[in-house]
Amino acid sequence: MIESLPRISLYDLGFAAIESELRAAEVSTHHAKALWRALHYHGELEPTSQFSPPLQRWLESAVGEGKRFFLDVPEVVTESHSSDLLTRKYLLRLGDGHCVETVLMGYDGRYTACVSSQVGCAMGCVFCATGQMGFVRHLRAGEIIAQVQHVRRVLRNSQPQRRLRNLVLMGMGEPLHNYAAVMQALDAIANVRGINIGPSKISISTVGVVPGILRMASEGSPYRLAVSLHGSTEAERAALVPASKQWGLGELIAACRTYGMLTGRRIFIEWTLVAGCNDSLETAARLADLLSGMDVHINLIPLNPTSGFGGVPSTAGHAFQRVLRAAGFPCTFRQRRGIDVTAGCGQLQAAKRLAAVE
Ligand code: SF4
Repeated sequence: MIESLPRISLYDLGFAAIESELRAAEVSTHHAKALWRALHYHGELEPTSQFSPPLQRWLESAVGEGKRFFLDVPEVVTESHSSDLLTRKYLLRLGDGHCVETVLMGYDGRYTACVSSQVGCAMGCVFCATGQMGFVRHLRAGEIIAQVQHVRRVLRNSQPQRRLRNLVLMGMGEPLHNYAAVMQALDAIANVRGINIGPSKISISTVGVVPGILRMASEGSPYRLAVSLHGSTEAERAALVPASKQWGLGELIAACRTYGMLTGRRIFIEWTLVAGCNDSLETAARLADLLSGMDVHINLIPLNPTSGFGGVPSTAGHAFQRVLRAAGFPCTFRQRRGIDVTAGCGQLQAAKRLAAVE
């Protein structure tokens, strides 16, 4: 009978679900902690000697090829490094053959993983390589966790004394468009008995999916929120972010104000500077007005080169920054990292890279 049931990734099971699977197999739920630790802390089920005999027997009968459960361990299709060796990008093949990109960045002794939440993306931001691919499918929670486990393994093998301390959902996909799977994955990733990345070190970057922002606010989600704004008027934003037709600028700013009020948390505003499009001093002044009274940190992002977008990187960034700082906002430039391996923001595009290696 077991063979006819859909197969389940162990990384898709929360702690309570692991307990209930063990209970159903008449294995004591006392063993759930050991299984959770192996999966999430060690990131593997080997060596099997670490398990008690009942758990060992269950693993042998239930996990593996042709059995009810499996472990998400994506295959590495390609690996590339930036010239300074501080950014490593992986093209990972998922169980169904689709690929996503995952990046490990190590700067100033701090290691950050940037993971994907979808194959492709439905939001279609014009400057973004992933947006130009279109949407393929959502990732499961287990596929998001598996990307983090992959970069942890890389780190363990190359720098065993270092720990992965930060996580950003800024890879392929719009995380708030895949809300349930993302939150389930993050709850596992933040768990102190597992990967243990503190919630304040986890950032969810959204292009402005208003229902998701409001849901994070009402649920008291503990993760950091970064909103890609890119425009100070409806027209300016619509030129870069087609999703703004669904959730207009006014609605988005109102949702951000609600989020700030309900959570008391600072919001990170992401602003990709495109010459002649959203980099004038008038735009900076309008942005300052728009955000007035909000606790925000503004990140200015130099436009990364992507095929298919004719936008030109701005040279007015410092003047733009001065206007915002004069208005009292913390405003910094995001460092350009991994540009030479196209691992910068808006540059991840697994489909093309996969085509290039096959
Ligand atoms: S910038 Fe983010 S939300 Fe926009 S298309 Fe790219 S992946 Fe999607």
